[in-house]
Amino acid sequence: MTDLDVLIIGGGIAGASLGAEIAGKVRTAIVEAESHCGYHSTGRSAAFWLESYGGPIVAQLSAASHAFLDSPPANFADRTFLRRRGALHVTQSDLPDLPGGVEARVVERTELEALVPGIRAGWDRALLEPGCADIDVAGLHAAYLRRFKALGGTIRTDARLIGGRFEDGSWLLRFETGETISAGIVVNAAGAWADPVAKSCGVSRIGISPKRRTMVQLRVGRSGLRDLPQVIDANESFYFKGEGDRSIWLSPHDEIETDPCDAAPEEIDIATAIDRFERVVDWPVEVVERSWAGLRSFAPDRVPVYGFDPISPAFFWCAGQGGFGIQTAPAAARLVASLLLREDRHESIAQIDPAPFSPSRLRG
Ligand SMILES: Cc1cc2nc3c(=O)[nH]c(=O)nc-3n(C[C@H](O)[C@H](O)[C@H](O)COP(=O)(O)OP(=O)(O)OC[C@H]3O[C@@H](n4cnc5c(N)ncnc54)[C@H](O)[C@@H]3O)c2cc1C
Repeated sequence: MTDLDVLIIGGGIAGASLGAEIAGKVRTAIVEAESHCGYHSTGRSAAFWLESYGGPIVAQLSAASHAFLDSPPANFADRTFLRRRGALHVTQSDLPDLPGGVEARVVERTELEALVPGIRAGWDRALLEPGCADIDVAGLHAAYLRRFKALGGTIRTDARLIGGRFEDGSWLLRFETGETISAGIVVNAAGAWADPVAKSCGVSRIGISPKRRTMVQLRVGRSGLRDLPQVIDANESFYFKGEGDRSIWLSPHDEIETDPCDAAPEEIDIATAIDRFERVVDWPVEVVERSWAGLRSFAPDRVPVYGFDPISPAFFWCAGQGGFGIQTAPAAARLVASLLLREDRHESIAQIDPAPFSPSRLRG
C-alpha cells in the first residue's frame, strides 16, 4: 500500500506553502533534511516584497500574492505580514524600466535628498515604487507550517532523501535514516538541491543553478533609519534598507555560482558591499553587526519551474524560486496546488497562465 498521495521534499517556504494548500485534500507529508524547516534560503532572505522584481512573469505572482500577505484569510493569520516602506531605484544615468502595471513615479534630486539624507552627489534621480514592503518571513513560514499540520499534514525533520524508485505506480523513497516511505507523487521543493534530488530519484536534472548572495547588517553613524526606503541601484550592484534606528541591511547584489551548500558570507563580498555603500551615502560605517549568505536558485530562464516532469510524470517540480520565493509564495502555492491536484485555479490566480512555468520548456 502507498503511505502517502504526495510527499513534499523540502520544508522551506515552497514546501510549506504548497503543503498548506493541499493538506486536507490528499494524504501528504513534508520531509526536511535539516533539524528545522527554513534553515536554508527561507531563513536567510532580505525579507521584502517588491512588485517590479524578477521580470513580468514573476511580477504576476508577486502582485497576486499581495492581498494574501497584506490581509491573510482569518483561518490563516490574524494580522498582516507586510510593513510598507517603499523602494527607490536610484541611478547615476538612466531610470530603469519596470514591468507594466507597477505603480512608480520619478523622484528628482531635491526629493531624493529628503528621502535619503546624505546621499552623495551624482545620484540625481530615482524611481519611487511606493508599494515595496517588508515581509515577516518567519511569521509567514510558521503560519504555513501550522496550517499544514492543522489540516492533517505531517512534517519529518532530520529526514534527508537519498534515493527514490518509481515502480508499479508509486515511489519508494529512501532516507539517510534508513527509513522508507511510499508515495504516489514526489514534489521536488528542495531549493538549491532540486537537481540532485531529481537525480537521486532517477529523473534527469533540469538546470537549477544555486547562486550565493551576501547580506550585511551595518551600524552606521546616522540615526532615524528604521523607516528608510529600500534603496536599490538601478544597475543592480547594491541594495540597502533601514533595519534599526542606526543600522541597515545591505547586499552587494552578488550572484556567485556555487554547489548546493550551507552558504556562508566571504570577506571579499562583505568588503565589496561596504565599498559600494560608501559611494552612495556619507554615513560613517561603524561596525559590521552581522553577516550571512544564502542561495538563490534559478532555472536558465530565471522563471520558476512548476509542473509534472514530462518524462517522469509522477515527479513534480516546485523549484527555481530565485530571489522572489517569499514574495510570490501565496500565489505560487495556489498555482502549484491546482497543477498538482488538477483542479481549477483559485480566483486570485485565475488570470495567470501556467504555461511559462512548465518544466517542459526546459526539456528541449
Ligand atoms: C540573501 C537572500 C535574499 C533574499 N531576499 C528575498 C526577498 O527579499 N524576497 C523574496 O521573496 N525572496 C528572497 N530571497 C529568495 C528566497 O529566500 C527563496 O526564493 C526561497 O526561500 C526559496 O524557498 P525554497 O523553499 O525553495 O528553498 P529553501 O528554503 O532552501 O528550502 C529547501 C529545503 O529543502 C531541503 N532539502 C534539500 N535537499 C533535501 C533532501 N534530499 N531531503 C530532504 N530535504 C531536502 C533543504 O534542507 C531546505 O530546507 C532571498 C534569498 C537570499 C539567499
